[in-house]
Amino acid sequence: RMGGVSGGYFDHAATTPLRPQARAALVAELDATGNASSLHASGRRARKVVEESRESIAAELGVRPSEVVFTSGGTEADNLAVKGTYWARRDADPEYATVLVSAIEHHAVLDPVRWLARSQGARVVELPVGPDGCVDPQVLERELIAHDGTVALVSVMSANNETGMIQPIERISTLCQRFGVPLHSDAVQSVGWYAQPDAAAPRPDLLTVSAHKFGGPIGVGALVVRGQEVVPLLHGGGQQNDARSGTLMTAQIAAMAAALAAAAADRDRAVPQVADLRDSLIRGVLEVLPDTRINGSTAEPRLPNIAALAFPDAAADALLMLLDVAGIECSAGSACTAGVSRPSHVLAAMGVSPELARGSLRFSLGWDSTARDVDRLLTVLPDAVARARRAQVGGRTAVHRSSRDSRL
Ligand code: PLP
Repeated sequence: RMGGVSGGYFDHAATTPLRPQARAALVAELDATGNASSLHASGRRARKVVEESRESIAAELGVRPSEVVFTSGGTEADNLAVKGTYWARRDADPEYATVLVSAIEHHAVLDPVRWLARSQGARVVELPVGPDGCVDPQVLERELIAHDGTVALVSVMSANNETGMIQPIERISTLCQRFGVPLHSDAVQSVGWYAQPDAAAPRPDLLTVSAHKFGGPIGVGALVVRGQEVVPLLHGGGQQNDARSGTLMTAQIAAMAAALAAAAADRDRAVPQVADLRDSLIRGVLEVLPDTRINGSTAEPRLPNIAALAFPDAAADALLMLLDVAGIECSAGSACTAGVSRPSHVLAAMGVSPELARGSLRFSLGWDSTARDVDRLLTVLPDAVARARRAQVGGRTAVHRSSRDSRL
């Protein structure tokens, strides 16, 4: 495993180890030849694997197989949802030019939305969040009223990747339905941990999924599209009903289906166990470093696997390197672009001060995390924080490298 024999991998929200079931499906398919669009026996065999995988993923997500569009991952699915829906809505009525998007979205949503504003004439309204890191449905309702008749789409993620805070998607879905506006939700961090609501419940029209966050391979994902037209990003062979051209990646799709089935089967064990580990991590850190702050909230609902912590007077990038040397792999709460450390947009939106944001780390657990991982972290953390603080006081940027990991 990635953290080495003794463990210490705390970056499962960036990517989590491949589940054995996914690996078996992946390896088996890599040895099989066949383009799922070919009409001969090999092609038909590949097509069968793809369609059975699609059915199994659709069943787990509570949607129809025809509503699942496979993509190269979460980033492509988010781009297809945002641009594809915007273009389709504008084609239907040029009045639809407003995009309502939460301020805490992943860059795979925020950046396409901002691109629409820059180059496609979109009006963008960013929905603020409270100190707990959650969107307030009443704020969305006010914006839906203010922009009634012009909203092309709303995009609010199901759970935030930096804080783990789960967003009130059911209430947001109800609101969007009332105003007749399509809702996209980036569910990359929550799929796997939680079952999706069934067809009777109010739910998003578009849903982004990424396999490598629940034990599938990197480079495959899906956009669920329910009753909403989307203009394709990729034109070509017309696969997947023209929604996404490109040869179907049989092995990756089979592995994604196997990973999701395994995650669902493991859910009753994993969710409480990982939540307990996270709680013991937070408790343990507060014991050894009582001035540690929690970014977000310890109130439910939140993902079971994320602890977002701020260490006052310690630079997160220095701390990250010191922990790495000690075999602890985690992620900084600040994106460091072109050598300039900028506080995370998520923490800024929550009102975390730039100083605290600069000392913020995300520890994220996964399906194979153990108490030994947490013990190991608690053993090395106090010394690493002390050294990072000394480096800070000395005015040195102790260690520096481009770390854009909070974007993951
Ligand atoms: N959305 C969220 C919330 C994420 O955490 C990630 C992770 O990187 C992505 C989208 C991008 O997914 P992918 O890595 O499959 O492109």
